[in-house]
Amino acid sequence: MSKGGTAVLNEQGAARTKRGYFGPYGGRFVPEGIAVLLEELEKAFDEAVADPTFRKELDEVLVEFVGRPSPVTECRNLSRACGGGRLFLKREDLNHTGAHKINNALGQGLLAKRMGKKRLIAETGAGMHGTASATAAALLGMECVVYMGAVDVARQAPNVGRMRALGATVVPVSFGQATLKEAVDGALAAWMEDPEAFYLLGSAVGPSPYPEIVRFFQSVIGSEARTQMLQREGRLPDEVVACVGGGSNAIGIFSGFLADPQVAITGVEPAGKGLHLGLGAHAATLVAGSPGVVHGFNTYVLADDAGEPAPVYSIAPGLDYPGVGPEHAYLKDTGRVQYVAVTDEEAITAFGRLCREEGIIPAIESSHALAYALKRLPSMEKEQILLVNLSGRGDKDLDTLLPLLGL
Ligand SMILES: *Cc1c(COP(=O)(O)O)cnc(C)c1O
Repeated sequence: MSKGGTAVLNEQGAARTKRGYFGPYGGRFVPEGIAVLLEELEKAFDEAVADPTFRKELDEVLVEFVGRPSPVTECRNLSRACGGGRLFLKREDLNHTGAHKINNALGQGLLAKRMGKKRLIAETGAGMHGTASATAAALLGMECVVYMGAVDVARQAPNVGRMRALGATVVPVSFGQATLKEAVDGALAAWMEDPEAFYLLGSAVGPSPYPEIVRFFQSVIGSEARTQMLQREGRLPDEVVACVGGGSNAIGIFSGFLADPQVAITGVEPAGKGLHLGLGAHAATLVAGSPGVVHGFNTYVLADDAGEPAPVYSIAPGLDYPGVGPEHAYLKDTGRVQYVAVTDEEAITAFGRLCREEGIIPAIESSHALAYALKRLPSMEKEQILLVNLSGRGDKDLDTLLPLLGL
């Protein structure tokens, strides 16, 4: 254990300390106008979670619309090639819309409907959360407005098209770096102007209660995976691995195993062009950042000398955020989860190998978790099991990656 000792875990394995906090991280550092809305959201969330009708509605839509449970797949070819442990994947890439984001978008969409909201506001980076939100809005008969950095609008045209086809309005945000951080700023400003709308936040970040809400809707990944491993192998995996952008797919799968001390847990951040190149070359917030406040909550941040969020970079558009979910900040300090970083190059190599050696095209985000797994497997025993959360499918990344793979 590193500094901080053992995490205090409740019966769900949540590292929450007092409401809204994970150790010193989390909280609600927002203007009064937004604090009132967050209070109302927290109350509605608590009521929904306690209501069996809501849980039933959520379960039904996850089965019939998303296609849950997602399977667990053993990768025999790669395991053999690496030598050492056995590699398993939790297949969130097989969900409707192609990633884990739909779990949260539908959950929050149902919550919004229950609160009588008619309009969803969402931010998006690469467009995956925007697409999931637009999908939820279409299914639930709501209006959807998605804020997206102008730079991302230009480089993610297929997702912009998908959102429009699904009936959403995409609003380009042109200030600053014109990417994800500014999209969040734009969405928050829009919410303050239209408090009757529901802000559908896409990762386990933001002011309380969002990290808790997103964790709740993504924990289906971990609870399914836990049951599937016990059914298939009669035991838990030895190590569970996920990529960390804001941290929602990671906390989703980790939540199923945090309370099992025999399961090692690893979060993988983007080292981009290399950590040694310093700020601007990566987005490894936990590995290379320090505590600070961003977007209304306390966490690890990549900040410049003036304390402003620094420019971030990763080849994976879903991973380039200068903050990280507050629960991950706490799990790092307590030592329950180890956080590492892999470079673009390592992720690209892992992407190519999963395609050719297993017949699965992974998202470049998920390929970061795979890259760590490929390095780790050779040092594991033959019967040991390493479970990777395959957060999404990689069709969206082919235009970028094929030239880099010389194809
Ligand atoms: C958005 C995204 C991520 C990163 O977001 P988290 O909140 O860290 O999970 C990872 N993988 C895929 C496929 C994504 O679309």
